[in-house]
Amino acid sequence: MNAKYSVLEKYFGYTSFLPHQEEIVDTVLAGRDVLAVMATGGGKSLCYQLPALVFGGLTVVVSPLIALMKDQVDGLRANGIPAATINSSLGRGEQKIIERVILEGRIRILYVSPERAVQPFFLSLLERADVRLIAIDEAHCISMWGHNFRPEYRRLQVLKERFPAVPVIALTATAIPAVQNDIAVQLALKNPVRFVGSFNRKNLTYRVVPKARYFPRLVAYLAEHPNDAGIIYCFSQKATEELAKKLQDKGFSALPYHAGLPDAVRAEHQEAFSRGDVAIICATVAFGMGIDKPDVRFVIHTDLPKDIESYYQETGRAGRDGEPGDCILFYSRGDYGTIRYVIEKEGGDAVQKDVAYRKAGAMLDYCETAGCRRKFLLAYFGESYPEERCGACDRCETEIRVFDGTEVASAVIACIRETGERFGASYVADVLTGSKNTRIRENGHDRLPAYGSGGGYTRDQWLLFIQEMVGKGFVTSTGGRYPVLVQNDRSREVLAGEIPVPLAEPRPEGVVAARVE
Ligand code: ADP
Ligand code: ZN
Repeated sequence: MNAKYSVLEKYFGYTSFLPHQEEIVDTVLAGRDVLAVMATGGGKSLCYQLPALVFGGLTVVVSPLIALMKDQVDGLRANGIPAATINSSLGRGEQKIIERVILEGRIRILYVSPERAVQPFFLSLLERADVRLIAIDEAHCISMWGHNFRPEYRRLQVLKERFPAVPVIALTATAIPAVQNDIAVQLALKNPVRFVGSFNRKNLTYRVVPKARYFPRLVAYLAEHPNDAGIIYCFSQKATEELAKKLQDKGFSALPYHAGLPDAVRAEHQEAFSRGDVAIICATVAFGMGIDKPDVRFVIHTDLPKDIESYYQETGRAGRDGEPGDCILFYSRGDYGTIRYVIEKEGGDAVQKDVAYRKAGAMLDYCETAGCRRKFLLAYFGESYPEERCGACDRCETEIRVFDGTEVASAVIACIRETGERFGASYVADVLTGSKNTRIRENGHDRLPAYGSGGGYTRDQWLLFIQEMVGKGFVTSTGGRYPVLVQNDRSREVLAGEIPVPLAEPRPEGVVAARVE
């Protein structure tokens, strides 16, 4: 019998492979370099653990989180696989013992941190050992285009230099095409075979709902899903505690979770949620790493996530068991200010900031898109969705009707022109709806013909129109940190009445909200 099947059954207890696993394992066993992009829960670990057992010798796994390494090692040992980790939490004595065991060939899989992996003494240890495979987990950390850049990952190239004959497998759950290329280049992979699994989570439903006065709507949703477990993500630690308290007062079973809580409390809340003793966890993004609760039925965001990668990863915690899951985002454009604040506070050089702003911009685009949310998410990850509509997002649930938006578009373009092509969508929408915003008054824009000329629609509806116009090329957005709307050739054709402008008919805002209620 083929070695890989017997190993699969004997050590892992599985009778079949998950999608892509077998091809990846075969390619690694053939000695090729591999870049594997698979959604969280897709079964990435097996893609190097199984070859490690077939190869014999030593497989080195670079992994960024000590806590996760420990879990992996414990899991492998429980299955009778000799595994170990070398990291900064070990004492000198322990480390010496592990080194000896490695040199004796008694460790099959060794987990190390990226910092450790490049240290000269460690590399020379590996040179004396029998290294057969190198796996780089969370490989997107190598790229500035990834959402979790770790400079020390950049130095991992040395592994390929020192062990040119050893195959390398790089694994990640999130990699836009630019990141994939970066991974291959930075790790100096030789002619790598790429496997990109689908990011489509068919059982999840995506909704974006206006955030204004959201609490009663949140309560209504929770009341309709009384037995469901779910995560509610908030931006600040304080907000998680306040929300948990407010929900408790309404009779819901809810607890907060954030990095500021004492370790014991945090662990207790996490376990209560995992066990099902508490239904709702109100958490910051600190919650989730290493959570393996299969029956999370909803993931709700009360604040705007900083980028699509984070949003995809966080919502990905719903419906791991394959049963339906709801992903609801309460959206206000005002939240962009908070993200801007965080980006500025986190510092970094100009390039890093620029990347962060672009990512935040894509998050706004997701919220404001007139099209299918799923299609948008998948396109972001470089995957095309074959249908125009998925049928399981707020944009697809009701028929999108197109109307002749020439008048609407002309109003937008006129407003852009009258305000001097110096402002973004929010400002333009404010002028159109006659907002009392002091900036508008200071600029004298309350005296323009455009001011208040768009009274027939709400500000949010104007934002949607503008978004769609940008998408369809009727006006141009400059992008960058403070995107500005400017006219282009097509804008002039619209004003001259030369081309029609089909736009998606706005829905009453109550309808969007009502669907969550
Ligand atoms: P990832 O690292 O891609 O998030 P994991 O390697 O943690 O995924 O695997 C996700 C889950 O799938 C784990 O619970 C694992 O035990 C399970 N799994 C992996 N391979 C198989 C398989 N061939 N058959 C059944 N379950 C599998
Ligand atoms: Zn859809």
